[in-house]
Amino acid sequence: MGMLVNIGKAAKALDVHPETLRSFHCRHCHYTAHADTVGAINVERRYTDPELRERIRVFTPKEGVLKVLREIFERKNTLLT
Ligand SMILES: [Zn+2]
Repeated sequence: MGMLVNIGKAAKALDVHPETLRSFHCRHCHYTAHADTVGAINVERRYTDPELRERIRVFTPKEGVLKVLREIFERKNTLLT
């Protein structure tokens, strides 16, 4: 089960604007966007990237999804270095 966070409560506790907690920052390439934008891009890629479409199916468990995404990330990272 994923972690459920009450954004409003967390923002109050941290004294930040709620939207700050809904922004995503990639530590690798420093891409920054709203969580919903990142989510939409991820969904779009699942359907348009042939490898993701082949390897991640509707009933692929989340551990399996993470494994595939990590493998692809590490392979691309190896090619860059
Ligand atoms: Zn990135």
